[in-house]
Amino acid sequence: MVRVRFAPSPTGPLHIGGVRTALYNYLLAKQLGGTFILRIEDTDQNRFVEGAEAYIVEALKWCGIEPTEGIGFGDGAYGPYRQSERNAIYRKYAAQLIDAGAAYYAFDTPAELEAMRERLKNESVQSYSSSTRGSMKNSLSWSEQETRKALSSGTPYIVRLKIPENKEVKVEDLIRGEVIFQTNDLDDKVLMKADGTPTYHLANIVDDYLMRITHVIRGEEWLPSAGHHVLLYEALGWSEAMPKFAHLPLILRPDGKGKLSKRDGVKFGFPVFPIGWKGATPETSFEGFREAGFEPQAVLNFLALLGWNPGTEQEIFSLDEMVQIFSLSKINKSGARFDYDKAKWFNQKYLAAADPAALARQILPLAQEKGYRTEEEYLIKFVSVFKDRAIVINDFLEKGYYFFEDVKTYDQPNLLKKWKPENKLTFRHFVAFIEVQNFDNPVELETLTKGWMHDNEVKPGDLFPLLRIALTGSVQGPAIFEMMHVFGKEASIQRLSSAPAKFDNLL
Ligand code: GLU
Repeated sequence: MVRVRFAPSPTGPLHIGGVRTALYNYLLAKQLGGTFILRIEDTDQNRFVEGAEAYIVEALKWCGIEPTEGIGFGDGAYGPYRQSERNAIYRKYAAQLIDAGAAYYAFDTPAELEAMRERLKNESVQSYSSSTRGSMKNSLSWSEQETRKALSSGTPYIVRLKIPENKEVKVEDLIRGEVIFQTNDLDDKVLMKADGTPTYHLANIVDDYLMRITHVIRGEEWLPSAGHHVLLYEALGWSEAMPKFAHLPLILRPDGKGKLSKRDGVKFGFPVFPIGWKGATPETSFEGFREAGFEPQAVLNFLALLGWNPGTEQEIFSLDEMVQIFSLSKINKSGARFDYDKAKWFNQKYLAAADPAALARQILPLAQEKGYRTEEEYLIKFVSVFKDRAIVINDFLEKGYYFFEDVKTYDQPNLLKKWKPENKLTFRHFVAFIEVQNFDNPVELETLTKGWMHDNEVKPGDLFPLLRIALTGSVQGPAIFEMMHVFGKEASIQRLSSAPAKFDNLL
């Protein structure tokens, strides 16, 4: 039975790379009828950020990739799912590791550790490791008696993993193949801190084992730790139950220069978080894809293809389709550049294909906020003609404002080219013509207008751009007759008959 987990640390808003990790976990679990767990890895209390956990839950809900089990998503049989509530469990396994000789007590003070680092500054050995531990204060360099005395007198200690010497550790990675670590390159990682709480490494392995995780799908930044993790599984006697590893490629900055960081969003002017985050100051508050007007499915589709190559030309996938065809073996090894234009392209495709009634429901609160008209029927008609032109949801009422209020500005350069004194008469005649037409059917209205133009020797190139400017302020926008159909006869005539005087004033 496949069991995967997304295990973020609540240190702030969830980076978009974290959402991709969650998505791949979700896809694999759904595809194989497995379980997707959300585990909160809050072992580092110094980096704990209030509100981050709630943010993670909300972000996953907004994206529509909901875990089956874990914080915010219902109880499973393997809780608690917050590591800070599992300290007693980790202590037990730390003791087991010490008993087995795979971990040891270390009593060095921060000043002593600092002095060692200073001493080793120019050497290529790992600071606390098989080559240095003999000269440090720990239960390996001390006699049993000394250690017992230090423990019973309450000397602060931490627990370190004892990395064996001269061994190779092999990590089978589903994406990268076999990755080999030389133990002499690995440091004796801290497993338990002086306050008796575990570090990430211990808690993560214990939990993956106890929660019966079958696949660890996580970011590439954890690959260097994988050797330690395999050694921990071995030392705990859990090799048989060791999950399969898949380390995902980095998401790179648009220029390909390094990993996309939280700060790059501000720098490049695009969101790097799924939903907005309110920090203590404006500098630490960020807009997310949601606030930028993206559809969650489009964001997922975009993220899925950042690193995963389905092997066909197809680019638009529903979540269900992705579940069907997702495969860890088709994940790239190399980093994927974050391309915001591509994200917008996906969103545009999703909006264009979306159900107008659903889009109308989405823009209703935005319309209310602006004091625009909000009848369902009108909003549906509007989004139906406008949805091909919106890139993000906010475009509907921003770019399409003229469906709700008077035109604010007219395209002067084009008016200069097109507006001639004789057009006034043409406008008057055209208004007289459409006054007696039926606006219910835009196709028919167009055909009749073209007939009228033919009879009156009015060239499309002369009239249509001016009609557009009169109706919307610009030469762009949806098809003229569809717009007139949405505006209705009265509003269309009002705009067309008041435009000539305004045009004259502008020129
Ligand atoms: N807590 C780690 C993180 O924040 C999880 C790494 C893992 O999945 O093992 O990314």
